[in-house]
Amino acid sequence: MKLFDGHNDILNKINHSDDPKNTRAFLEGGEGHLDFPRAIKAGFAGGFFAVYTSDPPSVPPIEERKFLTDVGYSFTLSPPLNYDYAHQTALSMIDLLFRIENDSSGKFQVVLTSQELENCLEKEIMAAILHLEGAEPILPSLENLPIFYEKGMRSLGITWSRPNAFGHGVPFLYPGSPDTGPGLTREGKNLIKTCNELGILIDLAHLNEKGFWDTADLSTAPLVSSHTAAHGLIPKPRNLTDKQLKAVAETNGVVGIIFSINDLDGGPRPIKDAPISSIIKHIRYIADLIGPEHVAFGSDLDGTLIPSGLGDVSGFPKLIDLLIEDGFSQAELEGICYQNWLRVVKETWKS
Ligand SMILES: [Zn+2]
Repeated sequence: MKLFDGHNDILNKINHSDDPKNTRAFLEGGEGHLDFPRAIKAGFAGGFFAVYTSDPPSVPPIEERKFLTDVGYSFTLSPPLNYDYAHQTALSMIDLLFRIENDSSGKFQVVLTSQELENCLEKEIMAAILHLEGAEPILPSLENLPIFYEKGMRSLGITWSRPNAFGHGVPFLYPGSPDTGPGLTREGKNLIKTCNELGILIDLAHLNEKGFWDTADLSTAPLVSSHTAAHGLIPKPRNLTDKQLKAVAETNGVVGIIFSINDLDGGPRPIKDAPISSIIKHIRYIADLIGPEHVAFGSDLDGTLIPSGLGDVSGFPKLIDLLIEDGFSQAELEGICYQNWLRVVKETWKS
C-alpha cells in the first residue's frame, strides 16, 4: 500500500543537528523517525515536508514552560518570532530540502504540480511537498509570498502555536477549547485570498478556532488540517471539534491524523506512551463522523513523541493492518493512505 503523509519535521531535525547541511542523514539512513531507506521499505511514497522555525535560543525550552493545573496542564505559549530570524531559517531549510533532491540520484523529488506528484507516485520516486509551517517568513505586505511560491512552496500553515502577523496559534494545554483568541488579522485575510489565487494549499493545523472560521468563510479551496486529532476524543485546543470536522467535509477537504501520543491519548497529565490503536480510534471517529474520504495520515514524524509500538516510519504497515482489522474497505483504505491527500492537492493547486 502506498502512503502519503501530511506532515513531518525531518528538515527541522537535520537543521538542529551538528551538520545541518547533511543530506545523508536522510538519504542513507539516520536516527529518529524518518529516513529514506526505512520510508521506502514501509511504502512511504511521499508527504508534506515542513519548513518550521523553532523558538530562538533566547526562549526557554518548552519543557521548562509547563505548569500543572488542578484539572490538567498548560505550556506557556511561544512568543512571536522575529521576521529576519524566521526568514533566514526558512531559506536554509528550503535549501536543505533541495539538496536532498539534488543528492538523491532522482529518487526524491520536490513536486510543484499535481502532474509531478502523480508521476512520482506512479514511478516510485518519493514526492515531497514543500510546506511552510507558520507564515512568519512571509512579510505582512505579502510582497515576498510569490518568491516563496517560485522557490517551490505549495503549502502554508498560517500559524504554529504562537501569534504572528496573520493569526493566532493555539497553546498546548489540557483540557481546552480551540477558541483561544481573536481571528485572522487583516493581513491574515489577505493571505488567504492570495494563497487561493496562487494555488497554495492553506493548512489550519495549530490555528485557533476564530481563525479557522475566518478561513472557512474566505477560502475557496478545500479546508485542510494537516496534523491534528479529534477534540471529541481528546479535548485539547490542537484537536478539531466535531463542528470544525464537519466544515472540513463540507468543502471536500481532509484532516491528517497526528501520531502525537498526548494529542491522541493524553489526559490531565502528559503521558509517555500510548498504544498504536489510539491512532486508529481517531481515524475511526472522524471517518464515522464525516466520512473516510476526509481523513488521512499527518504523522508529525520527527516532530513529536509517537507510540513506541509504532516506533518510527517502519511502523506504518502495522497501522494498515489495524485499519483492515477495524473494518475499513480496500477503497476506504486507499483513500486514507494516499488518495484523499492527492484529491485535495489536485483540487487546490492551479496546476
Ligand atoms: Zn506542527
